[in-house]
Amino acid sequence: QANERESMYLVSEYARKYFSEILWESEPGKAIGLTYFKERGFTDDTIRKFGLGYGLDQWDAFTQTALDKGYQLEFLEKTGLTIVKEQTTGEPRKFDRFKGRVLFPIHSMSGRVLGFGGRILTNDKKAAKYLNSPESEIYHKSKVLYGIYFAKQAIAKEDNCYLVEGYTDVIQMYQRGVENVVASSGTALTPEQIRLINRLTKNITVLFDGDAAGLRASLRGIDLILEQGMNVKVCTFPEGEDPDSFSKNNSYEDLVLYLDENAKDFIQFKTSLLAQEAANDPIKRADTVRDIVNSISKIPDRIKKEIYIQECAKIMEISEEVLYDTLAQIDKKGF
Ligand code: ATP
Ligand code: MN
Ligand code: MN
Ligand code: MN
Repeated sequence: QANERESMYLVSEYARKYFSEILWESEPGKAIGLTYFKERGFTDDTIRKFGLGYGLDQWDAFTQTALDKGYQLEFLEKTGLTIVKEQTTGEPRKFDRFKGRVLFPIHSMSGRVLGFGGRILTNDKKAAKYLNSPESEIYHKSKVLYGIYFAKQAIAKEDNCYLVEGYTDVIQMYQRGVENVVASSGTALTPEQIRLINRLTKNITVLFDGDAAGLRASLRGIDLILEQGMNVKVCTFPEGEDPDSFSKNNSYEDLVLYLDENAKDFIQFKTSLLAQEAANDPIKRADTVRDIVNSISKIPDRIKKEIYIQECAKIMEISEEVLYDTLAQIDKKGF
């Protein structure tokens, strides 16, 4: 329903303004939220640009203010900003979803606020580090890329899109001057997310964290990107680093140099993974070759397919003939 969605957009936009006012103007906002962002190295300009905010550590501070302003409970609940809990006796009780968290508004391609990501400030391992708005009429996680609104012009201009894991990776790279960057934000990359990028460029460079989870995520993403006929490169970060920490600790020149020098096409990437793992283990080698050929089979363009087969043959020291046979088998069986 169009009216319902419109009301949800309005209440989300109100929430963005409210949380940002709390951050900049309330005592706890300044002392806790703003301090947190500054410690992460975000400048005032960056904090304003991305519309960052803070939710007071109170049960229903936001909900009550919004209701007082005339926003309806129905839409506060539908956007997930308010959680309504039925009680065994008496009135249902209302709680703010984002209490005591710093907040990252999530924008659509055209700049509308769809939802929020909220981070706890402590390193309490028991609480979920990030909490996101729930799926709703206006917020479909699988169709949204964090940062796309801010990055879209730079993506088109640079004819390349950096894809990272998290909110802070986007913000820190952007602040360093690399503006063509978006995040999948915790969900595994989806075809719809890739299609959003496809409208702006055919080139994606996947930048994932220097940990095992990051590596797995980037491997899964590759085939999805290839299937849409796009070109994919992968760049990993030193163990324990992510694009956020790397951007914070390096100059613009060093960041760009690192990205240029370490972005590998997917065959080089998978091959170098193998080299690390078990260069002289024949079974691992065979698995990797099959893995690469399987990825190549996703590429719609025949010429590109052929070029990649040649490259794979060279790097893996396997005849092209065998690779073409394997490709034919995969095409027949659909892997
Ligand atoms: P930070 O630098 O603030 O610690 P990060 O972005 O480096 O955060 P990661 O642990 O690398 O965090 O996770 C990457 C992304 O995955 C996050 O930015 C967030 O979008 C999502 N994420 C992480 N933990 C959770 C969680 N517990 N629930 C939902 N999403 C999460
Ligand atoms: Mn990670
Ligand atoms: Mn990370
Ligand atoms: Mn991080």
